[in-house]
Amino acid sequence: PPLYKQRYQFVKDLVEKYKPKKVADLGCADCSLLWMLKFCSCIEVLAGLDICASIMKEKMHTLSPLPVDYLQPSERSLTVTLHHGSVAHKDPCMLGFDLVTCIELIEHLEESELKKFPEVVFGFMAPRIVAISTPNSEFNTLLPGVKLYRHPDHKFEWSQAQFQSWALETARCYDYSVEFTGVGHPPAGMEKIGFCTQIGVFVRKYPQTGESIQSEKPTEAVYKTVFKAVY
Ligand code: SAM
Repeated sequence: PPLYKQRYQFVKDLVEKYKPKKVADLGCADCSLLWMLKFCSCIEVLAGLDICASIMKEKMHTLSPLPVDYLQPSERSLTVTLHHGSVAHKDPCMLGFDLVTCIELIEHLEESELKKFPEVVFGFMAPRIVAISTPNSEFNTLLPGVKLYRHPDHKFEWSQAQFQSWALETARCYDYSVEFTGVGHPPAGMEKIGFCTQIGVFVRKYPQTGESIQSEKPTEAVYKTVFKAVY
């Protein structure tokens, strides 16, 4: 399967493993991953965030309930919400999540946004699990036609050492553990190059109770809700 499908499948497997009830996808783009996740029966709240409203709106209708969802209502309730905003800003609508995914997001952030990102995601949102994927620049020599970066909008692409030192420092700072994996295997004999897409899975070390969070973190709403569906 193509690499993006392998990344989505990785998230799906993570959902099957940890059974989160509330999942937020940051940099959700055209909502393809959210659409896949709506079939995971453990999920009751799904939220997407993107800085680009038009790309989110392209296929957001696919997140609406179908006639069959009304004819055969399921036991679980599901709410899907899309927000327009930046991961550089805190908004209380992102509190209380169990899993936050950032798939191919960080390499699109400007330096100033990347600086604020850890405090927003790990400090403020503080979900139990965070999954971050980003290109592994060491793999680029194996990709035909790639000169500097894989995509013109990438602000950087990190080697394994660069990503791991950023992730380890972030984890240490916000009291998470982090493990590294990826998708897209290197050819046999070239294992040192690592995965084509590198992934860090962060798990919060300290417990947190769902109810107390909101009141402890008074913040003004800054994101704009562009879509909401209740199943
Ligand atoms: N996660 C999707 C996937 O894996 O298919 C899309 C990844 S796309 C390469 C990166 C997305 O991040 C774009 O949709 C872009 O608009 C969004 N983005 C860039 N900067 C952002 C920011 N500061 N806050 C939220 N989203 C941002």
